[in-house]
Amino acid sequence: MARPIEWQLATVAAVHDETPSVRSFTLDLPGWAGHRAGQHLDLRLTAEDGYSVERSYSIASEPERAGVVEITVERIPSGEVSPFLHEVVIPGDRLEVRGPIGGYFVWDAPLGGPLLLIAGGSGVVPLMSMLRHRARAGARVPTRLLFSSRGPDEIIYRVELDRLAAAGDGFAVAHTLTRQQPPGWTGYARRVDEAMLAEVLEPLGPTTRTYTCGPTALVETVANALVRLGIPPDRIRTERFGPTGT
Ligand SMILES: Cc1cc2nc3c(=O)[nH]c(=O)nc-3n(C[C@H](O)[C@H](O)[C@H](O)COP(=O)(O)OP(=O)(O)OC[C@H]3O[C@@H](n4cnc5c(N)ncnc54)[C@H](O)[C@@H]3O)c2cc1C
Repeated sequence: MARPIEWQLATVAAVHDETPSVRSFTLDLPGWAGHRAGQHLDLRLTAEDGYSVERSYSIASEPERAGVVEITVERIPSGEVSPFLHEVVIPGDRLEVRGPIGGYFVWDAPLGGPLLLIAGGSGVVPLMSMLRHRARAGARVPTRLLFSSRGPDEIIYRVELDRLAAAGDGFAVAHTLTRQQPPGWTGYARRVDEAMLAEVLEPLGPTTRTYTCGPTALVETVANALVRLGIPPDRIRTERFGPTGT
């Protein structure tokens, strides 16, 4: 029987804002056993009276960064854990985490591609770990990210994504902005649908490995469309963040 993964204490080394409602936390974890791109960790908060809550957070950083793990958290205004992380946690604080967790929604460079990554909002987090790993490993597998955000100010990792796409190593990003588009916007301006997926998939071909992460409704739409577009089921990997159909 597998041994349960033990809780360990992480020290918050740095905090920075990605967008007005999304914040990244760099955690020092000297005892971290390492992870694969796409895995997540569990985070536990315990109050003085012993009440505790746990939530899962994908690992945003690449496996090559030893002893350090980065997570990126969207603030859900009515939530219990994410507002605490945003409003209370500062560098030097200690947080309990355990991981890495998950062996299905992972991509390692030797798996190859082509690769199509599809994200809705904070669903980009585990995909960012894959992209950072791809860059650090020097992998040149043809890769596309289709990234759905509400508006231009809500694009998580925007600067880094632009930089990765400018590297000329076979990675391109396509954005869709569903609620608000800046003047002169030339990207997509609607929710992800089959026609959009067909366009983004076209240069990659039918053997593409796909990883989709985000709200349940987006993940279901995408997975069904990818089946209709002829992607074999074992190349359609999905991860859902939201507990509802939001
Ligand atoms: C495998 C996995 C990986 C995850 N990775 C990340 C990550 O990298 N970054 C991240 O920000 N979140 C991630 N999540 C979601 C995260 O675990 C929490 O659910 C989220 O932070 C909300 O927790 P909360 O305590 O603030 O809200 P809760 O107290 O749990 O919920 C409050 C209210 O908000 C609703 N709600 C909860 N989550 C969402 C949501 N995502 N979208 C819309 N409404 C919601 C609930 O239905 C409820 O009504 C992941 C979830 C899973 C299962």
